[in-house]
Amino acid sequence: MTEINFNTKTVHFQTKEPARNTSKAKPIYQTSAFVFTDLDDMESFFEGEKEYLYSRYSNPNTDDLGKGIAILEEAEDGVATSSGMSAILAGILAVANQGDHVVASDDLYGGTYQLFAQELLNFGIEVSFVSFEDIQKVREAITDKTVLIYTESVTNPLLRVEDLREVMALAKELKIKTMIDNTFATPYLLQPTKLGANLVVHSATKYIGGHSDVTAGVLVGEQDLIAKAKSKIITLGCNLSPFEAWLACRGLKTLSVRMERQSRNAQALAEALQAHEGVEEVYYPKFVSEKGNGAMVSMDLAEQVNVEEFFKSLGWVKIAPTLAGVETTVSYPLRTSHRTVPETLRNELGIGKQLVRISVGIEDEKDIIEAFIGAIEQAK
Ligand SMILES: *Cc1c(COP(=O)(O)O)cnc(C)c1O
Repeated sequence: MTEINFNTKTVHFQTKEPARNTSKAKPIYQTSAFVFTDLDDMESFFEGEKEYLYSRYSNPNTDDLGKGIAILEEAEDGVATSSGMSAILAGILAVANQGDHVVASDDLYGGTYQLFAQELLNFGIEVSFVSFEDIQKVREAITDKTVLIYTESVTNPLLRVEDLREVMALAKELKIKTMIDNTFATPYLLQPTKLGANLVVHSATKYIGGHSDVTAGVLVGEQDLIAKAKSKIITLGCNLSPFEAWLACRGLKTLSVRMERQSRNAQALAEALQAHEGVEEVYYPKFVSEKGNGAMVSMDLAEQVNVEEFFKSLGWVKIAPTLAGVETTVSYPLRTSHRTVPETLRNELGIGKQLVRISVGIEDEKDIIEAFIGAIEQAK
């Protein structure tokens, strides 16, 4: 090999690769592409012998996240995406084509509602929104064009727990696919694939990441549907970056301990709020799983409690338009997640001006309860 000069050296200097598998933490493959020694070597990617070519197609870190969640959800395969929203889009496009119809719950994450009510129309996919509280309503909304039933396992922000068994039975009877947003429950509490869901989606921005430092999504489910979703993700560029995937995987390792503590704290907070006269109604699931009922608590403050004052009096509890971090945070659905939901639908759903949504963290139970009761007392 001929001697190379400074400019060339700056680009091509390379120290020896360490022996494989010696690093305790997963390395970050922060690369946009993978290199090949010769044309045969490159051909081996297209023959399926080599896994990686270009990071928009796949990358070891994003695979780790997608396949990791697939393992925890006991699904056949999984893929990571740039956000929960793009995971939902990829899942829908894996099932529905132009002219198809989707039946969705009317109590959805605000962003999902917007995607379904507006953007999917541009793909020629129509969505009907119905209450899943009565399975008969779901059945009535189904037409001969319906290819998919979509709902959240625990809804946002009113924390209704859907009867997924009923939904699955109906879908099976009518040979329609099902897709479940399992963000609030996480695979720690619930695995919808085990109940028969064809696709399960997560905003990994929430409990999977767990530390409010990454935006990511994951779609898991049946092999053929995930393969279709992957091809959409590649073409639409909905892939996740390696570093974000690495962060989400690091967060995921502590999912169990976080969920255990956070669910326990949430249960205690829900009970304390229930008992307080400054609270009109508490929304907290009665039963999600024997491991707990999740870490989200919503409440309607009583009329005599001033909402503005309440938010000002929370001390160390921060207002944040997100959820699921290790810190307890609070949000106001009317002006954030449900801003774009039409007023009539909001009223029907019961998302009013006294509604507050709490994401319970890992702090001491006593401190969390005191912060909220204190703020309610202040705002009375
Ligand atoms: C946050 C959230 C989403 C959207 O996820 P992003 O990561 O913000 O794109 C979807 N569904 C639910 C239930 C969520 O909480």
